[in-house]
Amino acid sequence: MLNSAEPIVIIGAGESGTRTALTIRQLGWDGPLTLIGEENTAPYERPPLSKQRLSSPDSPVATITTASELHDRRIDFLQGRRAVGIDRTSQVVSLDNDSTLPYGQLLIATGSRARPLPIAGGDHAITLRQITDIERVLEAVRTPRLCVIGAGLIGLEIAAQAWVHGTDVIVVEAADEVLSRVAPPAMASLIRHRHERSGVSFVLGTQAHRIGRHNDQYIVTLSNGTAIECDRVIAAIGSIPNCELATDAGLLVANGIVVDDQLRSSDPLILSAGDCCSFPAAGSHVRLEAWRNAHDQANVAAQNLAGSHISYVTVPWFWSDQYDFSVQVVGTPSAGATDVERHTHDSATFVFSLDVDGVLVAASGLGTGSSAAKTIRAAQMLIEDRCIVDPAALADPTVSLRAIRKTATT
Ligand SMILES: Cc1cc2nc3c(=O)[nH]c(=O)nc-3n(C[C@H](O)[C@H](O)[C@H](O)COP(=O)(O)OP(=O)(O)OC[C@H]3O[C@@H](n4cnc5c(N)ncnc54)[C@H](O)[C@@H]3O)c2cc1C
Repeated sequence: MLNSAEPIVIIGAGESGTRTALTIRQLGWDGPLTLIGEENTAPYERPPLSKQRLSSPDSPVATITTASELHDRRIDFLQGRRAVGIDRTSQVVSLDNDSTLPYGQLLIATGSRARPLPIAGGDHAITLRQITDIERVLEAVRTPRLCVIGAGLIGLEIAAQAWVHGTDVIVVEAADEVLSRVAPPAMASLIRHRHERSGVSFVLGTQAHRIGRHNDQYIVTLSNGTAIECDRVIAAIGSIPNCELATDAGLLVANGIVVDDQLRSSDPLILSAGDCCSFPAAGSHVRLEAWRNAHDQANVAAQNLAGSHISYVTVPWFWSDQYDFSVQVVGTPSAGATDVERHTHDSATFVFSLDVDGVLVAASGLGTGSSAAKTIRAAQMLIEDRCIVDPAALADPTVSLRAIRKTATT
């Protein structure tokens, strides 16, 4: 274990930063440990913001931990404090109150922020990233007519929650299908049909061009000239990694803070984890905006900060809850993938993607509650083992993935 006299400083008290701090202590490292969080609240989970918090606004905030637990573990939590600079020569972090903090090692876990809508009047659109955004989003999902720009996971979750409140929802998406970045076409169209059955309308393959305001009404003009009148506009068009500190400190940044397999940046004393980092996977570098990635990277970052040399190896996985169903996606489809569908007796649907060699590379499942979870977990093991699987067996709901694994070749 590393010399515990050297302070560890963590910038960002979200999923990755907070979990890293807690795990470092669980590992028995007992040196000085500081967690800097610019939000004026105890660390909390973001996924419920577009789910339970919108359907049941009085539901409690899902905290990751409390200030008192952090205190009990001797983690110096600087709540509401922003890191504004990193001096790598003298190994200090400067804060927005003009103080400085020395570090032996540093973790940058600054996450990402909602991408602003880059069009005229784009600042009329509300975005959702932090707990302080909730009031405005709640008000928007309860208006009579809501326009959501962006049909990714968060946009669709917001559309589903607005439907719960009886709001007329129209979703505008530049791509030709919803969820085009994350789900195979067959799964994406299934999800869109579920929304359409509830009365949500979609304008696909079309960009929002301008947002005008008249009194408390908005007019969203689309690239095809159509004008949508509505009471509120929400933009959910992805996020931008918070890398400015790293860039200013001269670290390598390319759509995220570039790290190696041990999550070390171009300065070995500085690690990065979560939404803000770009890490090696499948022969290139990727940046994920997913809860489990942030969580699992925290575990690896904590061990490496405490002196280990562990590689982060992952198969991407995320979930989304909309209406009464949950969708889970694991793996990354490759170019030229063949999709195989499976429909089960309990109405769960799966899409498995096989690469040109017949290796299972991705799977997505949609079902009520957690009905898809078990199969997706089994699919993850097949993906991890790079198994060549029989498409006919994958399509047959009477053949379990466990049985497929037993006979699969690698
Ligand atoms: C509305 C919403 C719903 C989501 N739903 C899902 C889902 O269903 N499934 C899923 O897999 N993922 C979901 N995600 C994504 C998931 O929440 C993120 O991937 C995860 O929170 C990333 O964790 P992180 O620690 O990297 O970043 P964050 O959780 O963003 O934490 C970073 C923290 O650093 C702080 N910070 C930034 N700069 C500084 C600075 N200079 N000084 C101090 N503090 C700073 C930020 O304010 C923030 O508190 C959702 C995200 C959102 C916003």
